[in-house]
Amino acid sequence: MIIKNSEYAVSAVREDQYPKDELPELAMAGRSNVGKSSLINTFVNRKNLARTSSQPGKTQTLNFYRVNDEFYLVDVPGYGYARVSQKKRQEFGEMIQDYLETRANLEGILILVDGRHEPTKDDIAMYQYAQYLNIPILVVATKIDKVKRNQRNKSIAGIKKAMNLRPEDELLTFSSFDKTNLDKLSTWIEDKVNA
Ligand code: GDP
Repeated sequence: MIIKNSEYAVSAVREDQYPKDELPELAMAGRSNVGKSSLINTFVNRKNLARTSSQPGKTQTLNFYRVNDEFYLVDVPGYGYARVSQKKRQEFGEMIQDYLETRANLEGILILVDGRHEPTKDDIAMYQYAQYLNIPILVVATKIDKVKRNQRNKSIAGIKKAMNLRPEDELLTFSSFDKTNLDKLSTWIEDKVNA
């Protein structure tokens, strides 16, 4: 897929704030710091479209990015915040649920897990939840440049086993640093937005 343009469209916490043009949407979910903003920026080939964790003012909203005037990437706020209150966690949860459960033009979800580690409880819960909602899923194991080449198959096998990955769900290793599998990521995205 050739990226001709990409732009930040809108941030939303409720349905009436979502874009109204009914373009296909792909959600991106993962724990905070998993490399989600970096993946978005790498995919659209821009440095700072999505805010990375190291930038101040990262807000806990659904952020919609329009790509090629053709579809939206929807940055779902990172889960697994240890330090926020129970109430805040619940609010995030409800915002994410409202979106994933009601959005008719949602064509798929990328679930990002850290390629260096076993998936967390939150990762597994998100994967099971997306299955339950029947959303096409791509699991992306991020930061794979940090895993030695001869360890990668073992890491992948560990993630697949811990998540109990279904045969219909693809798992892709990825690196924003060296662009490992950027082509495969693009192909999956293209496929889903043209479905
Ligand atoms: P987010 O919170 O999920 O949006 O994560 P960020 O994209 O802000 O990345 C969190 C941290 O991981 C930053 O320090 C990034 O530089 C680093 N990071 C992101 N992607 C990669 C990657 O592919 N390889 C490596 N080695 N580090 C990465």
